[in-house]
Amino acid sequence: MIDDSLMQAEFLKSILKDDYDVTTCHTAEDGLLQAESGDYSLILLDVIMPGMDGFKLLTKLKETTLTKHVPVILITSLSDVQHEERGLILGASDYITKPFSPIIVKARVSNHIRIHNYQMQFMQQAMFDELTGVANRRCYEEERLKKWRLSYRLGLPFTICMFDIDKFKLYNDTYGHPAGDKVIATVAKTVSSYLQRTTDFFARYGGEEFIALMLGNDAKSAFEFMKRIRQAVEDLHIPHNSPVSEWVTISVGGVTFVPKNDDMYDNYLKVADNMLYDAKEFGRNMVVWSNENKEQWREK
Ligand code: GH3
Ligand code: MG
Ligand code: MG
Repeated sequence: MIDDSLMQAEFLKSILKDDYDVTTCHTAEDGLLQAESGDYSLILLDVIMPGMDGFKLLTKLKETTLTKHVPVILITSLSDVQHEERGLILGASDYITKPFSPIIVKARVSNHIRIHNYQMQFMQQAMFDELTGVANRRCYEEERLKKWRLSYRLGLPFTICMFDIDKFKLYNDTYGHPAGDKVIATVAKTVSSYLQRTTDFFARYGGEEFIALMLGNDAKSAFEFMKRIRQAVEDLHIPHNSPVSEWVTISVGGVTFVPKNDDMYDNYLKVADNMLYDAKEFGRNMVVWSNENKEQWREK
């Protein structure tokens, strides 16, 4: 709740506090900070405030990735149609004029929070893989260019890395599909636990294949890092009746380079895929890496 009037804020809070956790801010600037750092399902926003007003703050909230999904209800004494139109056009979910009925406020708050929760659940299902809980292919398709552009803008090395479980068809044939599903989930959890920085991204690419993106590591350190991940998967000691190892293993292929203006993402994705192919060719359970000069490393 963002309202410069202490009394107004207290009154609104008294209406809602039994059903919700309410955080109160008395300036738009503070409200923006709170909204960006917290995890809110609704913002109640006063329009007339000294300094930044509610319309300006609403515009900022709707422009910011972190806050644009949070519904905003404007609560104001500006009861004319023009102000209501402006608020709704700027992206407010609703507009309540003062003096208001506490029952209507409660009902609208409850409606908007319910819609928001459905949306979040829908987004969760749309972006995350159900079996493993990691990002899915669709999420990857949205993220890859963002990460790529960020890396280009900051002039940082970019890494694309593909993972594939070795002889997994054989695993399913031997232990059954449900057991195979568990292995996919366990491997995903293990690999993703190494890729938790905000500059890292990890997704299920399809079937028993995964993809990681990283920013900032040079080729050699990315290679060394992936060797640790390969080892961590082998160290899970999941029995596998495979010609590669007595345990479930992965093959890893990747490339690290500093993106240039006319570079194509897909060309480097192809390089990563070729490195994975080489890892399979050279015996599996290994990491094969390339840099932008086509130097190659291959190790367990
Ligand atoms: P390679 O070492 O060359 O990667 O051999 P592979 O057997 O792992 O490769 P292949 O691509 O021939 O087989 C992949 C197998 O992964 C076949 C498919 O049934 C299995 N698979 C793909 N998705 C799933 C899944 O969601 N669950 C289970 N249990 N198996 C899956
Ligand atoms: Mg495969
Ligand atoms: Mg495989």
